[in-house]
Formats: sequence, C-alpha cells, structure tokens
Amino acid sequence: MPRMMMAAVVEAFGQPLVLRECDTPSAGPGQILVKTEACGVCHTDLHAARGDWPVKPVPPFIPGHEGIGVVVAVGAGVTIVALGDRVGVPWMYSACGHCEYCLSAWETVCPDIAFTGYTRNGGFAEYILADPNYVARIPDGLSAIDAAPIICAGVTTYKGLKETGARPGEWVAISGIGGLGHLAVQYARAMGLRVCAVDVDDGKLAHARALGAEALVDARGDDPVGALKAVTGGGAHGVLITAPSLAAFDQGVAMTRRHGTCVLVGLPPGDFPLPLFDVVAACITVRGSFVGTRKDMAEALAFAADGKVRAEIERQPLSAINAVFDRLDHGNVAARVVLDLGSPS
Ligand code: NAD
Ligand code: ZN
Ligand code: ZN
Repeated sequence: MPRMMMAAVVEAFGQPLVLRECDTPSAGPGQILVKTEACGVCHTDLHAARGDWPVKPVPPFIPGHEGIGVVVAVGAGVTIVALGDRVGVPWMYSACGHCEYCLSAWETVCPDIAFTGYTRNGGFAEYILADPNYVARIPDGLSAIDAAPIICAGVTTYKGLKETGARPGEWVAISGIGGLGHLAVQYARAMGLRVCAVDVDDGKLAHARALGAEALVDARGDDPVGALKAVTGGGAHGVLITAPSLAAFDQGVAMTRRHGTCVLVGLPPGDFPLPLFDVVAACITVRGSFVGTRKDMAEALAFAADGKVRAEIERQPLSAINAVFDRLDHGNVAARVVLDLGSPS
C-alpha cells in the first residue's frame, strides 16, 4: 500500500475542500481497507461540509458515503470479507450489533452508530477504512460507478417508499427529483406504484416523466397542492420528500391523502410547522426515514443488478469536487455525480 493517498478534506466548515495527501489508513483488528474505485456525491456531503446539522462532524474529515471498491487489506480476525471482494462503504459505517434496535433490524437508529464521511473518514479518497460487518456486497455485473448512487440515494429512497406503506396501484408523490428522487421514481415504478413527481426545475420534471412518472407538479406553481390532489383524486397515499428545502415539507404534508403517510427524507437545516388539526383530523402519519438496513441495502442493490433501476450518472474526477459541490448547491446537477477514482470500466 502506498504510504500516502490523495483525498478531498473538509478542513473548516463552509470552506472549499482541500485536495491533499493524507496518510493511507491501515486495517487494524476487525477492520478492512478498501481501494476506492468510485464514490457518489450526495447532498448530505454538502450539509456535512457546511456543518448544517445539530450533530456535527469534527474537521478535518473526508466526506463521501457512496464509495465502492475492492478489499485490499483485512485486519486480524476478519472472516466474513476476503481480499478482492467488491464492497460499498455506506453512510452506516457501523452499529453496536446488540442494542434493542440492532436486535430488531433497526440498526439505522442504533445509538452507537458511526457515519461514513461524517464521524469516520469517507470515500472522497483513494482508500477507505471500513467495518466488514456493515459494508454492502456489490452484485456481480453492477459496475462500481453504477453501484455508487445505490448505496445511499438508492437504499434511502427504496426504504422510504416502503415506509410510506403505499401498495401497488396507489399513488406516491415524490418531492425532489435529484440524486435521490430520480432513483425514487424508478423504485416506485418497479414496486407497482403510480408516481406524481414534484420539483422546482423544468429539467428535473422532464426527467421524472422520462423515468415513468405519470403526473408532474411544478412546486413553483400557484397551487401545487391543489394540482396534486386533482390528479391523484384527493392526495397521494404516500409522500416521499427528498427535497433539501423546508418549503417542500409543508407542501408534502398537505399533499398526503387522508390516512396516508408522509415520509421525511430530505435534511435541510431548520424546522417546519405541522398543521396539527389537519394531521390529526385526517389521520396522517408523518415519519422520518434514515438510509436503510443491511437487508434494505441488499434488496436495493438487487433491483439495480436486475436492471430495474439505473442511476443516471455524470462522472467527474476527485479534483472536481468543489465545482461539483457548487453545482449541487444551485440545483445544477442533472441526477448524480460519481467521482471516478480509477474504476475498471
Ligand atoms: P439533490 O441536490 O441531488 O436533489 C435535490 C432536488 O430537490 C433537486 O432536483 C431540486 O431541484 C429539488 N428541489 C429543491 N427545492 C425543492 C422544492 N421546494 N420542492 C421540490 N423539489 C425541490 O440532493 P440529494 O442528493 O437527492 O439529497 C436530497 C436531500 O436528502 C438532502 O437534504 C440530503 O441530505 C438528504 N438525504 C437524506 C438521507 C436520509 O437517509 N434521510 C439520505 C441521503 C440524503
Ligand atoms: Zn447520501
Ligand atoms: Zn445498536
């Protein structure tokens, strides 16, 4: 292993990432080292680099939680992952494995969870240290570039759609058709759901249509909630809000059908008011959803390996990260950027 590796480092919140050499980590007992081939750029990485959320990472740190690569070193005691395996290092870096949440397959809310690219260094680097118990297994036939967006954007929206409880033939509204949302439209179609896409950008809405959305609502319009209710006959059975904008949250709750479920996934900083009477009297469920479990991950990847879901990808080199962040911030990324760190394809 080379002693040094190139990485994009958050040195201070709100500042451009610094491209510099860092020590290549080595795999201690129970750890593995992954040589990165590709890493997607999620809007969460932007929140991380700005310190947007109440629980903050501590600079300097390396973001990136859609890293895919090959295992090049295994620490003492590692038996479930072997040299040469292809794995993904997702947002859920590790959990405790024995609390009530881990035992009930809710490891995503384990109080001892660690986050890749946040509380552990992530994939904007040539090598990533990982916990073999929590890496994603990348199916044969799915390239590193294609797999990258699935291990965050894919699993998060697939799980979020399941959490809406919407059944085949019912309507889901997907608010925000970016990196997460363009995959959400495809998962929803593959799950037999009818999709109404909501965004503030003509290109994103056209993209949703091309991916199978039956109806489109421009959130900048005069009455987006009324438009959605008209097309769905009273509101969507499930609403999935991926937009990183608080305005989308008020709207998303109002778009929920009576007795429906609104799933919050986007994480813009701040709070939004819930219209108490409407939520109570219409028996609406509002729930958060955070990435997915390892089982959700395997299912989400299987959809991609089967060709039912395909991320639309723009490849960029690691050195372009600051320009990519700037475009993501301004809504100027068509779907997902994946950093190509030497993928074989
Ligand atoms: P993105 O920038 O790729 O996409 C955001 C989309 O939202 C864009 O298409 C944009 O046009 C649209 N949008 C902006 N304002 C809108 C509005 N008012 N109404 C409707 N659409 C609007 O971002 P992304 O990578 O898809 O991430 C989206 C959010 O999801 C971020 O806040 C991110 O942190 C969060 N996230 C949450 C989880 C989780 O587990 N809950 C996982 C991954 C990402
Ligand atoms: Zn993410
Ligand atoms: Zn736990």
